[in-house]
Amino acid sequence: MKLVFATNNLNKLAEVQKMLPNTIEVLSLNDINCFDEVEETEITLEGNAKLKANYITQKFGYNCFADDTGLEVDSLEGKPGVFSARFAGEPSNSEKNMQKLLSELEKKEDRKAQFRTAICLNIDKHQYIFEGICKGEILKEKNGEKGFGYDPIFKPAGYEISFAEMTSEEKNKISHRGLAIQKLVEFLKDFKN
Ligand code: IMP
Repeated sequence: MKLVFATNNLNKLAEVQKMLPNTIEVLSLNDINCFDEVEETEITLEGNAKLKANYITQKFGYNCFADDTGLEVDSLEGKPGVFSARFAGEPSNSEKNMQKLLSELEKKEDRKAQFRTAICLNIDKHQYIFEGICKGEILKEKNGEKGFGYDPIFKPAGYEISFAEMTSEEKNKISHRGLAIQKLVEFLKDFKN
């Protein structure tokens, strides 16, 4: 089965491709010659995921899934949430985003946070939403070099290392996107039967 993953983020594409069985061929936006940038104008993760998946299905006719992820910090009432990529302004800059978050949490005791991913799948004229959550906390300083985004300052619950100190295999097993993708994969296996 051919499925478009509506992303230009090569990190995410690689993470997802590793998790899907060979029977599902994931195509990137480049693979379908889509070079359009779909603006994430909705105010929820689910809304943005739908926006992106619908754009591809409507314009290119493919079965498609799209994701959107936010880092939701308890003591900041769920911020930066849907605005995680642009937390420190545009253009998006991970280093600035992390510094802003660290400074906003400087005087806060509660550093609990969660990554949340919403995936929207458009398949054979139906639409499905999958969610994955990874709970943890924001560290006081950066640790590790791997991964991307907020990985160096996020420590998943039950671990003593940050996401940026894990291999991508370790991270995929427990990450928000990994869990959402696992739900998507399970669904797709049943869908074929
Ligand atoms: P996106 O909209 O899913 O691309 O993600 C929104 C923001 O969250 C971006 O700034 C990403 O860097 C960040 N982000 C998404 N997934 C992860 C992750 O797995 N680790 C760290 N940061 C992430």
